[in-house]
Amino acid sequence: MSQLSTHCIHCELQPAALPSSLCVRCKSFSGIRRLYLRRRGWTQRWETHLLKLTRRAQQQLPLFPH
Ligand SMILES: [Zn+2]
Repeated sequence: MSQLSTHCIHCELQPAALPSSLCVRCKSFSGIRRLYLRRRGWTQRWETHLLKLTRRAQQQLPLFPH
């Protein structure tokens, strides 16, 4: 039984480390880790928001500009 190799749900660049589905790099950021905690009230709108953050991450933009 082999594990499907998937990419990090955040940066989609690095292989994901189970069970969080984030790569080691993203997992090291507690802010990112918190984003992907499944929670009550997970909505399509939230998914869209996460997708936006993912795009920013791919462009190496700051996720949480002050
Ligand atoms: Zn990542």
